[in-house]
Amino acid sequence: MALEINNLHVAVDGIEIIKGVTLRFEPGKVYALMGPNGSGKSTLAQALTGHPKYKVTAGKIILDGKDITAEKPDIRAKGGLFLSFQYPAEISGVTISNFIRAAVNARRSEPLSVLDFHKLLQHKMAELKMDSSFSKRYVNAGFSGGEKKRAEILQLIMLQPRYAFLDETDSGLDVDAIKIVAEGINALRKKTSMTIIVITHYQRFLDYLEPDTVSIMGGGKIIASGGKELIQQIDEEGFEDLVEETP
Ligand code: ADP
Ligand code: MG
Repeated sequence: MALEINNLHVAVDGIEIIKGVTLRFEPGKVYALMGPNGSGKSTLAQALTGHPKYKVTAGKIILDGKDITAEKPDIRAKGGLFLSFQYPAEISGVTISNFIRAAVNARRSEPLSVLDFHKLLQHKMAELKMDSSFSKRYVNAGFSGGEKKRAEILQLIMLQPRYAFLDETDSGLDVDAIKIVAEGINALRKKTSMTIIVITHYQRFLDYLEPDTVSIMGGGKIIASGGKELIQQIDEEGFEDLVEETP
Protein backbone atom coordinates (compact mmCIF):
# COMPACT_ATOMS: atom_id res chain seq x y z
CA MET A 1 0.00 0.00 0.00
CA ALA A 2 1.39 3.37 -1.04
CA LEU A 3 0.89 6.30 -3.34
CA GLU A 4 3.79 6.29 -5.75
CA ILE A 5 4.80 8.92 -8.24
CA ASN A 6 7.33 7.75 -10.77
CA ASN A 7 9.25 10.23 -12.90
CA LEU A 8 6.15 12.41 -13.29
CA HIS A 9 6.12 15.20 -15.85
CA VAL A 10 3.15 17.59 -15.93
CA ALA A 11 2.32 20.36 -18.39
CA VAL A 12 -0.15 23.23 -17.98
CA ASP A 13 -1.29 24.96 -21.19
CA GLY A 14 1.51 23.20 -23.06
CA ILE A 15 4.25 24.36 -20.69
CA GLU A 16 6.09 21.73 -18.68
CA ILE A 17 5.86 22.64 -14.99
CA ILE A 18 6.69 19.34 -13.25
CA LYS A 19 9.92 17.93 -14.66
CA GLY A 20 10.40 14.41 -13.40
CA VAL A 21 9.24 13.95 -9.81
CA THR A 22 9.57 10.63 -8.01
CA LEU A 23 8.02 10.32 -4.55
CA ARG A 24 6.49 7.59 -2.40
CA PHE A 25 3.88 8.20 0.29
CA GLU A 26 3.21 5.42 2.78
CA PRO A 27 0.15 4.84 5.00
CA GLY A 28 0.11 6.52 8.39
CA LYS A 29 2.95 8.90 7.67
CA VAL A 30 3.09 12.67 7.47
CA TYR A 31 5.05 14.31 4.69
CA ALA A 32 5.96 17.95 4.26
CA LEU A 33 6.35 19.35 0.77
CA MET A 34 8.11 22.68 0.78
CA GLY A 35 9.76 24.97 -1.74
CA PRO A 36 9.73 28.52 -3.03
CA ASN A 37 6.65 30.04 -4.67
CA GLY A 38 6.21 28.83 -8.22
CA SER A 39 8.26 25.65 -7.68
CA GLY A 40 5.31 23.45 -8.67
CA LYS A 41 3.90 22.19 -5.37
CA SER A 42 0.25 23.01 -6.13
CA THR A 43 0.65 21.81 -9.71
CA LEU A 44 1.91 18.44 -8.49
CA ALA A 45 -1.00 18.08 -6.06
CA GLN A 46 -3.56 19.05 -8.72
CA ALA A 47 -2.07 16.61 -11.22
CA LEU A 48 -2.29 13.79 -8.68
CA THR A 49 -5.99 14.33 -8.10
CA GLY A 50 -6.64 14.45 -11.84
CA HIS A 51 -7.51 18.08 -12.56
CA PRO A 52 -8.05 18.14 -16.36
CA LYS A 53 -5.94 21.27 -16.85
CA TYR A 54 -2.85 19.47 -15.61
CA LYS A 55 -1.65 17.03 -18.26
CA VAL A 56 0.68 14.20 -17.34
CA THR A 57 3.12 14.04 -20.26
CA ALA A 58 5.37 11.29 -18.86
CA GLY A 59 5.66 9.08 -15.82
CA LYS A 60 3.12 7.23 -13.69
CA ILE A 61 0.93 7.64 -10.62
CA ILE A 62 0.36 4.36 -8.77
CA LEU A 63 -2.30 4.23 -6.03
CA ASP A 64 -2.06 1.08 -3.91
CA GLY A 65 -0.58 -0.85 -6.80
CA LYS A 66 -3.06 0.42 -9.39
CA ASP A 67 -1.96 2.71 -12.21
CA ILE A 68 -4.30 5.73 -11.98
CA THR A 69 -2.33 8.01 -14.30
CA ALA A 70 -5.22 8.16 -16.78
CA GLU A 71 -8.13 7.82 -14.32
CA LYS A 72 -10.80 10.50 -13.83
CA PRO A 73 -10.85 12.54 -10.59
CA ASP A 74 -13.88 10.70 -9.15
CA ILE A 75 -12.13 7.32 -9.47
CA ARG A 76 -9.11 8.76 -7.69
CA ALA A 77 -11.31 10.22 -4.95
CA LYS A 78 -13.01 6.84 -4.47
CA GLY A 79 -9.54 5.33 -4.24
CA GLY A 80 -8.93 7.66 -1.31
CA LEU A 81 -7.15 10.72 -2.71
CA PHE A 82 -8.11 14.09 -1.28
CA LEU A 83 -6.84 17.55 -2.08
CA SER A 84 -7.63 20.67 -0.14
CA PHE A 85 -7.49 23.82 -2.19
CA GLN A 86 -5.03 26.59 -1.70
CA TYR A 87 -7.73 29.06 -2.72
CA PRO A 88 -11.10 27.45 -1.88
CA ALA A 89 -14.00 28.60 -4.04
CA GLU A 90 -17.34 29.84 -2.83
CA ILE A 91 -20.31 27.56 -3.61
CA SER A 92 -23.42 29.65 -3.15
CA GLY A 93 -26.64 27.99 -2.05
CA VAL A 94 -24.92 24.86 -0.66
CA THR A 95 -24.43 24.56 3.08
CA ILE A 96 -21.28 23.06 4.53
CA SER A 97 -23.38 20.30 6.01
CA ASN A 98 -24.96 19.33 2.66
CA PHE A 99 -21.67 19.64 0.85
CA ILE A 100 -19.88 17.30 3.23
CA ARG A 101 -22.82 14.88 3.37
CA ALA A 102 -22.80 14.57 -0.43
CA ALA A 103 -19.04 14.01 -0.43
CA VAL A 104 -19.23 11.41 2.36
CA ASN A 105 -22.13 9.52 0.77
CA ALA A 106 -20.49 9.54 -2.66
CA ARG A 107 -17.79 7.35 -1.20
CA ARG A 108 -20.09 4.92 0.63
CA SER A 109 -22.13 2.07 -0.81
CA GLU A 110 -24.90 2.72 1.75
CA PRO A 111 -25.57 6.42 2.45
CA LEU A 112 -25.54 7.59 6.07
CA SER A 113 -28.97 8.60 7.35
CA VAL A 114 -29.45 12.35 7.76
CA LEU A 115 -29.68 11.89 11.52
CA ASP A 116 -26.54 9.78 11.83
CA PHE A 117 -24.67 12.16 9.60
CA HIS A 118 -25.63 15.16 11.73
CA LYS A 119 -24.67 13.41 14.96
CA LEU A 120 -21.27 12.62 13.52
CA LEU A 121 -20.81 16.11 12.11
CA GLN A 122 -21.70 17.82 15.39
CA HIS A 123 -19.36 15.55 17.28
CA LYS A 124 -16.45 16.31 14.96
CA MET A 125 -17.19 20.03 15.00
CA ALA A 126 -17.11 20.05 18.77
CA GLU A 127 -13.71 18.36 18.64
CA LEU A 128 -12.47 21.14 16.36
CA LYS A 129 -14.00 23.74 18.70
CA MET A 130 -16.34 24.95 15.95
CA ASP A 131 -19.67 26.51 16.70
CA SER A 132 -22.53 24.16 15.76
CA SER A 133 -24.08 26.85 13.55
CA PHE A 134 -21.01 26.77 11.28
CA SER A 135 -22.31 23.80 9.28
CA LYS A 136 -25.44 25.73 8.27
CA ARG A 137 -23.46 28.42 6.50
CA TYR A 138 -22.97 28.36 2.74
CA VAL A 139 -19.67 26.90 1.57
CA ASN A 140 -16.99 29.57 1.85
CA ALA A 141 -19.46 32.47 1.39
CA GLY A 142 -18.04 35.41 3.28
CA PHE A 143 -15.65 33.17 5.22
CA SER A 144 -12.48 34.51 6.72
CA GLY A 145 -9.28 32.76 5.66
CA GLY A 146 -9.29 30.87 8.93
CA GLU A 147 -12.91 29.73 8.53
CA LYS A 148 -12.18 28.37 5.05
CA LYS A 149 -9.31 26.35 6.38
CA ARG A 150 -11.32 25.01 9.29
CA ALA A 151 -14.04 23.97 6.87
CA GLU A 152 -11.39 22.05 4.94
CA ILE A 153 -10.20 20.24 8.03
CA LEU A 154 -13.79 19.37 8.94
CA GLN A 155 -14.22 17.93 5.46
CA LEU A 156 -11.01 15.94 5.89
CA ILE A 157 -12.09 14.53 9.24
CA MET A 158 -15.52 13.57 7.89
CA LEU A 159 -14.22 12.04 4.66
CA GLN A 160 -11.20 10.27 6.12
CA PRO A 161 -9.41 9.79 2.80
CA ARG A 162 -6.39 7.50 2.57
CA TYR A 163 -4.05 10.13 1.15
CA ALA A 164 -4.70 13.80 1.92
CA PHE A 165 -2.88 16.72 0.36
CA LEU A 166 -3.28 19.91 2.36
CA ASP A 167 -2.16 22.78 0.21
CA GLU A 168 -1.23 25.68 2.49
CA THR A 169 -4.03 24.77 4.86
CA ASP A 170 -2.22 26.88 7.46
CA SER A 171 -2.19 30.11 5.49
CA GLY A 172 -4.54 32.75 6.86
CA LEU A 173 -4.77 31.01 10.22
CA ASP A 174 -3.82 32.75 13.42
CA VAL A 175 -1.62 31.05 15.99
CA ASP A 176 -4.52 29.50 17.93
CA ALA A 177 -6.24 28.23 14.79
CA ILE A 178 -2.99 26.68 13.51
CA LYS A 179 -2.77 24.76 16.75
CA ILE A 180 -6.39 23.54 16.54
CA VAL A 181 -5.99 22.48 12.92
CA ALA A 182 -2.69 20.73 13.69
CA GLU A 183 -4.25 18.98 16.69
CA GLY A 184 -7.15 17.88 14.47
CA ILE A 185 -4.67 16.38 12.02
CA ASN A 186 -2.64 14.74 14.77
CA ALA A 187 -5.77 13.17 16.26
CA LEU A 188 -6.62 11.71 12.85
CA ARG A 189 -3.14 10.41 12.54
CA LYS A 190 -3.47 8.46 15.78
CA LYS A 191 -6.89 7.03 14.93
CA THR A 192 -6.42 6.22 11.26
CA SER A 193 -3.68 5.21 8.86
CA MET A 194 -4.31 8.30 6.77
CA THR A 195 -1.29 9.60 4.89
CA ILE A 196 -1.01 13.36 5.16
CA ILE A 197 1.02 15.47 2.79
CA VAL A 198 1.24 19.09 3.89
CA ILE A 199 2.36 21.82 1.55
CA THR A 200 3.46 24.68 3.75
CA HIS A 201 5.91 27.48 4.41
CA TYR A 202 5.34 27.65 8.13
CA GLN A 203 7.71 26.14 10.60
CA ARG A 204 5.20 26.55 13.41
CA PHE A 205 2.67 24.30 11.65
CA LEU A 206 5.37 21.68 11.06
CA ASP A 207 6.52 21.92 14.68
CA TYR A 208 3.06 20.68 15.70
CA LEU A 209 2.84 18.06 12.97
CA GLU A 210 6.34 16.59 13.10
CA PRO A 211 6.52 15.20 9.56
CA ASP A 212 8.32 11.91 8.97
CA THR A 213 9.82 13.09 5.70
CA VAL A 214 10.45 16.52 4.22
CA SER A 215 10.83 17.03 0.47
CA ILE A 216 11.81 20.30 -1.14
CA MET A 217 10.69 21.28 -4.63
CA GLY A 218 12.50 23.71 -6.87
CA GLY A 219 11.86 24.35 -10.55
CA GLY A 220 9.46 21.43 -10.89
CA LYS A 221 11.84 18.88 -9.37
CA ILE A 222 12.61 17.46 -5.94
CA ILE A 223 15.85 19.17 -4.99
CA ALA A 224 16.29 17.84 -1.47
CA SER A 225 14.69 15.42 0.95
CA GLY A 226 15.35 14.41 4.49
CA GLY A 227 13.93 14.49 7.99
CA LYS A 228 12.70 17.25 10.26
CA GLU A 229 16.19 18.79 10.43
CA LEU A 230 15.70 20.08 6.89
CA ILE A 231 12.91 22.39 8.14
CA GLN A 232 15.27 24.02 10.61
CA GLN A 233 17.92 24.42 7.91
CA ILE A 234 15.45 26.12 5.56
CA ASP A 235 14.18 28.35 8.31
CA GLU A 236 17.73 29.57 8.92
CA GLU A 237 19.17 29.60 5.40
CA GLY A 238 16.15 29.84 3.08
CA PHE A 239 15.75 27.83 -0.11
CA GLU A 240 18.43 29.70 -2.07
CA ASP A 241 21.35 27.37 -1.39
CA LEU A 242 19.31 24.28 -2.19
CA VAL A 243 17.98 25.78 -5.41
CA GLU A 244 21.46 26.80 -6.57
CA GLU A 245 22.93 23.36 -5.93
CA THR A 246 20.75 21.75 -8.58
CA PRO A 247 22.11 21.76 -12.14
P1 ADP B 1 3.71 26.57 -6.01
O1 ADP B 1 2.43 25.91 -5.55
O2 ADP B 1 4.93 25.79 -5.64
O3 ADP B 1 3.81 27.99 -5.58
P2 ADP B 1 2.54 26.32 -8.63
O4 ADP B 1 2.38 24.87 -8.82
O5 ADP B 1 1.34 27.11 -8.27
O6 ADP B 1 3.72 26.59 -7.60
O7 ADP B 1 3.13 26.97 -9.96
C1 ADP B 1 4.26 26.44 -10.63
C2 ADP B 1 4.45 27.15 -11.93
O8 ADP B 1 3.38 26.81 -12.81
C3 ADP B 1 4.48 28.66 -11.84
O9 ADP B 1 5.49 29.14 -12.68
C4 ADP B 1 3.11 29.07 -12.33
O10 ADP B 1 3.17 30.33 -12.96
C5 ADP B 1 2.76 27.97 -13.30
N1 ADP B 1 1.32 27.69 -13.32
C6 ADP B 1 0.61 27.15 -12.31
N2 ADP B 1 -0.69 27.01 -12.62
C7 ADP B 1 -0.80 27.49 -13.87
C8 ADP B 1 -1.89 27.66 -14.77
N3 ADP B 1 -3.13 27.28 -14.42
N4 ADP B 1 -1.63 28.17 -15.99
C9 ADP B 1 -0.39 28.54 -16.33
N5 ADP B 1 0.68 28.43 -15.52
C10 ADP B 1 0.49 27.93 -14.33
MG1 MG C 1 0.88 26.61 -4.37
